[in-house]
Amino acid sequence: MGLTDGTVLGATKLVHHGSDQKRWTLVLVAEGYQATEMAKFQTDAQSFVTKLFATPPFDTFQAAINVYRLDVASTDSGADDPVACSGTGAAPATFFDASFCSSGDIPTPVRRLLRVNEANVLATVRDHVPHWDMIMVVVNSTVYGGFGGDIAVFSTAAHAMDIGIHEMGHTAFGLADEYPYWAGCGVDVDHDHHPATEPSAPNVTLDSNRATIKWRDLVLASTPMPTTSNINCTACDPQPNPLPATTVGAYEGAHTYHCGAFRPQFNCRMRVLDAPFCAVCRREIAQRLAQHLPRKKPKKPRTRPRKPRTPRVGMKKPKRRSRRGGHR
Ligand SMILES: [Zn+2]
Repeated sequence: MGLTDGTVLGATKLVHHGSDQKRWTLVLVAEGYQATEMAKFQTDAQSFVTKLFATPPFDTFQAAINVYRLDVASTDSGADDPVACSGTGAAPATFFDASFCSSGDIPTPVRRLLRVNEANVLATVRDHVPHWDMIMVVVNSTVYGGFGGDIAVFSTAAHAMDIGIHEMGHTAFGLADEYPYWAGCGVDVDHDHHPATEPSAPNVTLDSNRATIKWRDLVLASTPMPTTSNINCTACDPQPNPLPATTVGAYEGAHTYHCGAFRPQFNCRMRVLDAPFCAVCRREIAQRLAQHLPRKKPKKPRTRPRKPRTPRVGMKKPKRRSRRGGHR
């Protein structure tokens, strides 16, 4: 199992906007691709870059970003899919031991939680791309899944790239999940009320007071606070958005709990995969990427000395011709 189950083929720089030390440098790592599937990884990696650069606010920060692709061939194709999470029981031999049905920080495993041997990923990337800001492992599996730990992971299931950008929100930008469930809306029994501790992430909160909420500068005086409330905390709030989609407020149901936690907009990429990032998440990402933008070049010094100005002392300001006294 592990590093003997394949070969590292090498790194290729897909996007080059300057030195890796100065730019925000992303490395896309292949996992569960056999040598004969490497062309598919190359297509998957390029598709991810295209998608990322079309996603606000990344679209306006392209100059801040470098991207590498690290080709790694595994002995077998895919990822482990344990029967404990109603998976197929598949257990392919792959370089970074990718597996669905991980438990994250809690004891209950969930099939969509897809993790890899992070120490092996870090060691392999270090050998090929010494300076990086973000590592994403692309797992060649049609089963839906991802994870946003120290290293982000996503599968190549339908909407895979959207999962990847969501996981990037966790790993690189400290954003929390804005969806209101853990195992599922009708499945959870212990996610009715958020614990009393305020989350540190900038995009979820227990505080729906307009004067003190984290994103208060984005809330209009005309927006009700809280904006929506969940009347049945044993389930996810089923009500549709009562306000326009871009309204920033305090929508109840967030951070994997049905009640007690609020999200900034009705929808966001940190809640559902087919939504853009909300205004609060966009601002957080933009502030971090802005630190990696190239500095504007200083103007070139003049080669010829400036001609001395004629002193204006005593000069009369020319009289302004009145409109009526114009060309007659
Ligand atoms: Zn958001």
